[in-house]
Amino acid sequence: MDKECALDWIEKNNGLIIEISDKVWEFAELGLIEFKSSVLLADELAKHGFKVDRGVAGMPTAFVATWGEGKPVIGIMGEYDALPRLSQKKVPWKETLDLGSPGHGCGHNIHGASGMAAAVAIKEAMEKHRIRGTVKFFGCPAEENFSGKVFMVRDGIFSGVDAVISHHPDNMNDVSLMGCLAVNSVKFHFHGKASHAGASPEQGRSALDAVELMNIGVNYLREHVIQDARIHYIIEKGGDQPNIVPSYARSWYYVRAPEVNQLDFIYNWILDIAKGAAIMTRTEMKTESFGGIYKIVPNRTVTELIIKNMREIGLPKYSDEDLKFAEEIAKTITPEMKIAELKKSKRPGWQRLVDKLVDDEIPDPWGEGEVTHGSTDVADVSWQAPTVEFSTATWVLGTPAHSWQAVAQNGVGIGHKSLIFAAKVMAATAIDLLTRSDALNKAKEEHKQRIGNKKYRALIRPDDKPPLDVWEK
Ligand SMILES: [Zn+2]
Repeated sequence: MDKECALDWIEKNNGLIIEISDKVWEFAELGLIEFKSSVLLADELAKHGFKVDRGVAGMPTAFVATWGEGKPVIGIMGEYDALPRLSQKKVPWKETLDLGSPGHGCGHNIHGASGMAAAVAIKEAMEKHRIRGTVKFFGCPAEENFSGKVFMVRDGIFSGVDAVISHHPDNMNDVSLMGCLAVNSVKFHFHGKASHAGASPEQGRSALDAVELMNIGVNYLREHVIQDARIHYIIEKGGDQPNIVPSYARSWYYVRAPEVNQLDFIYNWILDIAKGAAIMTRTEMKTESFGGIYKIVPNRTVTELIIKNMREIGLPKYSDEDLKFAEEIAKTITPEMKIAELKKSKRPGWQRLVDKLVDDEIPDPWGEGEVTHGSTDVADVSWQAPTVEFSTATWVLGTPAHSWQAVAQNGVGIGHKSLIFAAKVMAATAIDLLTRSDALNKAKEEHKQRIGNKKYRALIRPDDKPPLDVWEK
């Protein structure tokens, strides 16, 4: 059996796959500078005969690894970027590994490794069973901050692909059909005039005043935006010391809403507020766009294939050691926190999970027509071809993403098992799509219907470049 061949490869190589995931966990590199992580994954794929194009779409850490030829073309995505200041040891209590350093709080170490393993396993099955077509692994940088996939989509890296599968660690086996929010990421630069804040303040024009007044304006706007919208900001630069009127200040905003037209409406209002703040303070304002991403287009056909494969393969079995670690982590999550996380998932029957440690069900798909309040650049890929990102239980129930608990669990027992399970599910689903033209055609037809007459236009301009030097600023 072609699927068994792929699953066997993953089972036999599970030590290697876990080792790669753990190495990426240790590298914990931020978006766009995931040099060691991307090389590790790309080299492994090259070792298995994949042709690797490195540095695609203007990002040194983006790559495409291809095996096979002709149609159909099935894509597997992998991410490998970490999050700032989340460094944490692999222990079930909060203990920093390396102060101020990044950590894998979203499990992208597993994301990249599960995809890589699936791609190699698919290739093994294709080779042995003479399955026609192409498998492509897309090495996607900077999901957390600069939406690497949006640049890859704009530059045609995904063109010609028939379906794309990807896996994301989570606290449940999540196969929902929910959409996510579109997002716009923009920095506001204000330029004023420096002066001695004590001796000659009248000579100064404070860029920090402008940042603060803009934020106040936006906070008054909140009452008048739709319920599902989200607006968040940080002040990146607010001056140097109090006795100098700040001549330069900078804020960074994310604006989110379900639909791109809703996003545009809110963003344009914010832009007016920023202009108003500049007028009020007699400073100059410039925007710098860091791109935007779309709302995801779900695909029930591919989702159902994934669920079928999840059920056939069966959930992982945990060792006593895995469960002991999980129980210790669970003690750090309050019942209120857990209930809030479960409820947010909108999963039918989520109440059943309140007293459980780890998700032990593979539910039917849910949430069609609803949105979650995060965003992902997977969405932009989902406008190009049927695309599904599913989750497997990597963390104990109630663990929020981007937390120290998630960092710790992404490098140990249950995380490792979730990685192997996910790789198998991806490989099996890709083989279904490669060998069953009925399933692939149905997925493509559904995709066409969901898109309808809506047009995708990248929320970055044709000449926008990935901000490669962002961490040096
Ligand atoms: Zn993530």
